[in-house]
Amino acid sequence: HIVVLGSTNMDLVAYVPEAPRRGETVTGREFRTFPGGKGANQAVAAARAGATVSMIGAVGTDAFGTQLRTALDHSGVDTDLLRTVEGATGTAHIVVDDDGGNAIVVVPGANATLTGLTHGDEALITSADLLLLQLEIPLDGVVAAARHAREHGVRTVLTPAPAQQLPPELLDATDLLIPNEHEAAALTGAADPHAAAHALLDRVPEVVVTLGAEGSLYAARGAEPVTVPAPRVTAVDTTGAGDTFVGALAAALGEGRPLPSALGWASTAAALSVQRPGAAAAMPYRTEIDAAAEA
Ligand code: ADP
Repeated sequence: HIVVLGSTNMDLVAYVPEAPRRGETVTGREFRTFPGGKGANQAVAAARAGATVSMIGAVGTDAFGTQLRTALDHSGVDTDLLRTVEGATGTAHIVVDDDGGNAIVVVPGANATLTGLTHGDEALITSADLLLLQLEIPLDGVVAAARHAREHGVRTVLTPAPAQQLPPELLDATDLLIPNEHEAAALTGAADPHAAAHALLDRVPEVVVTLGAEGSLYAARGAEPVTVPAPRVTAVDTTGAGDTFVGALAAALGEGRPLPSALGWASTAAALSVQRPGAAAAMPYRTEIDAAAEA
């Protein structure tokens, strides 16, 4: 049983030939909405990969809140502890230009209320095999959850995104840290992923650095680092690749599959997701991952 504490956003995407400058108005080609937020994305990825998943989070009293709850329900994610709080749901306002470049404003909305745990949240985390955390909700909430998990022997997996300095008590309560290359560099000041992973092992027992098309790097205290290549595929949209990777990895770990062997399966899942457009919409189901992993 996997518990995710994190963000739930509606991504609002305008596709434009060229992004507007300050004071300028441009006409867009198309507008689309996508369920998002790193917390919800990891929850959906883990559920599709075959895990039993509960999401602790918050949506607002607007229509986006209802839509996001429904989307999570349809993905098989338990939303009993997803609260609805007065006000706006979290939104990401994204402008994508014809070169594929983007500019993003995130308004946390309801996510900003996740500053601590309820008794219900604590009981759910205590019962979990694995707790997944990211940094799109207030740090106080993340730290409270990590500490509670540590006190009750629940393995905690932290994706340190968006990149920021982390309080020592958060790393102290983290079992497995999964930064991408940029986050690993931001956390350590070391541009080389091997050096960054090595430095992070001073703080946490296990680290996986994701390396985009290059795959991932696993490092653990007292063991030789292992590089796991990514399958060679033609990527059409890498949004959410990291969340797919973490969700699938969590599903495998939750079934008792050991690291680093679970990394190959997670890479297969992420490689499937980058071959399709969208973030959560592109996440593969277990049968697809198993089929691709055997091929
Ligand atoms: P994030 O999406 O958080 O920036 P990465 O870009 O490192 O993270 O991607 C996460 C994982 O997704 C990688 O470790 C890899 O397994 C997979 N992945 C990402 N891009 C590709 C790609 N072009 N081809 C194959 N796999 C990919």
